[in-house]
Amino acid sequence: MGDTDPAKPGDEAPPGTSGTGENLCRACGGTGKVADKTCTECQGTGKVTTGIGGA
Ligand SMILES: [Zn+2]
Repeated sequence: MGDTDPAKPGDEAPPGTSGTGENLCRACGGTGKVADKTCTECQGTGKVTTGIGGA
């Protein structure tokens, strides 16, 4: 480790937080782009960290 991703706007929790996981970014649908621009929610990764199993 030591190369952790910085928090992204679309993240609901920092990576590694218990009860969370990577999911497709809803803003860009996992493409990493919105209207030919880098998605700001996931910063182009197409993935965001959101809570899982709690809903
Ligand atoms: Zn996105």
